[in-house]
Amino acid sequence: MRRPMVAGNWKMHGTRASVAELIKGLGNLALPSGVDVAVFPSFLHINQVIDGLEGKSIKVGAQNAAVESKQGALTGEVAPSQLAEEGCSLVLVGHSERRQIIGENDETLIRKFAAAQACGLIPVLCIGETLEQREAGKTLEVVGHQLGSIIEKLGVGVFAKAVIAYEPVWAIGTGLTASPQQAQDVHAAIRAQLAAENSEVAQGVRLLYGGSVKAANAVELFGMPDIDGGLIGGASLNADEFGAICRAAGN
Ligand code: PEP
Repeated sequence: MRRPMVAGNWKMHGTRASVAELIKGLGNLALPSGVDVAVFPSFLHINQVIDGLEGKSIKVGAQNAAVESKQGALTGEVAPSQLAEEGCSLVLVGHSERRQIIGENDETLIRKFAAAQACGLIPVLCIGETLEQREAGKTLEVVGHQLGSIIEKLGVGVFAKAVIAYEPVWAIGTGLTASPQQAQDVHAAIRAQLAAENSEVAQGVRLLYGGSVKAANAVELFGMPDIDGGLIGGASLNADEFGAICRAAGN
């Protein structure tokens, strides 16, 4: 039985004041005990969030980390070892905004994934197709390639200590959501790809869905057999909405 996870990606949002408000709201939530809950603030706010959520069972992760695991001469980057020391336990790898806007490619993401694990961080590998790719019938090919590049270089065993988020690019921040069946079909294919290499790893790994998840659509999405929770962007900036999504994962 996989333990569901709901993670909030705050992206490049927040000021000290708005983050303090959000921390207060999260602190007041009644969260379901059977769900792992995590938030991913900007680097600047990680400390504030870790301090502010002390005693609350909400994990804190980073939205990105360097390709090298240890601190060193890499201007502008943050090492996974530094994140681990601050108290982060997770890191997003390959969010579509970083693939598309920053230009991160498979090679870079393989290094980031490995560097994160080397420091004990759990990578949350984000994969997903664009609208153009979906309309061309290439969804499974694209997602399979993004996942396959990690398996090929690092081995399927790395997914025993990782999470995968399927996030169709066309559904991120657009208000469009994959239907529960569309999402389930891709999740099942992801699990089958892992199972072809190692069925134990495939059965154990959590597959989150991301893309305009809200309290109103979460129950249906999380009710699908291969959807183990969600990666939530916009809706995670509202503590009450995020709490309702977490409770949906606990049902
Ligand atoms: C995301 O950025 O990972 C995401 C899923 O965003 P949204 O929920 O806003 O679509």
